[in-house]
Amino acid sequence: MDFHLTTHMWFVLRDLQEKIFKLIDECLNIDLDSELTIEQRYVKFLNEDSKMSAFIPKMPTTQLIVMPHDNSQIDNLNNLIASADFTENKVKDIQVSFVEIATPETTLEYMYYFVNYFLTNKILFRKCKNCNRYFIPLNNLGIEYCNRPAENSTKTCREIGPVRVYQEKAFDNPVSKLYNRAYKKRFARIKYKLITKDDFSVWAEYAREMRDKCFRGEITLEEFENWLDE
Ligand SMILES: [Zn+2]
Repeated sequence: MDFHLTTHMWFVLRDLQEKIFKLIDECLNIDLDSELTIEQRYVKFLNEDSKMSAFIPKMPTTQLIVMPHDNSQIDNLNNLIASADFTENKVKDIQVSFVEIATPETTLEYMYYFVNYFLTNKILFRKCKNCNRYFIPLNNLGIEYCNRPAENSTKTCREIGPVRVYQEKAFDNPVSKLYNRAYKKRFARIKYKLITKDDFSVWAEYAREMRDKCFRGEITLEEFENWLDE
C-alpha cells in the first residue's frame, strides 16, 4: 500500500515539476521574446495545459501577522497586543511589518504556493549560461550566471562562466588565432635564447592590450597582424 502511494506521489510530483518548468519557460522566462503580459502568457499556458490535465495552483492556508523588525521585541509586541493598558506611545517603540505565514499541508501545496507567489509577484527567471538551470537574477536583471557551484569546480557559475564564454569565443576568433600563434612563436624564442623571459613578458603584455583593442574594434585585424609581424 505504501509503495503504491509513494509511486503515485512520485508521478504526481514529476508531472507537476514538468509543468512548473513549462510555466517558467512560457510565462516567467526573462529572455522570452513575447509581447504578452505575464497574465496573458498564463492564459495561453492554461489553454495549452487544458488539453492534458488542469493546472490549478491551490493556495495553502495563509495567515497575516505583524512581526517586529527586531526579533528581541517579539515578547514585547505580544504582551502589548494582550495588554489592558495599551498606549500609542508603547507601540511607537516597536517597528513592525506585515508577514504572511503559509502553512502548506502537502508537498503539492508547498509547490503551488511558490508558483502562486512567482506569478503574482512577477518573479522572473533566467537560464544560467553556464549550467543551463533556472535562477532568479535578483537586484540585477543583467546577471547571466547563477550562484550554484559549477560542475567540476570549486567556484560558482558566476565566477567561472564569463571566463569560459570568453575563452570559447576567443578560441574561435580570428583575432585570438593571430594572437595565440604569435604568442607561441615568440615564446619559443626564449628556448633558443633569442629573447629573454623579461622581454617576452613585456611583449606579451603589450600584445594582450593590442588584442583587446582589436576585439573592441579600435584597430583593424590587418593592423593587429602587421603589429604582430613587426
Ligand atoms: Zn549556473
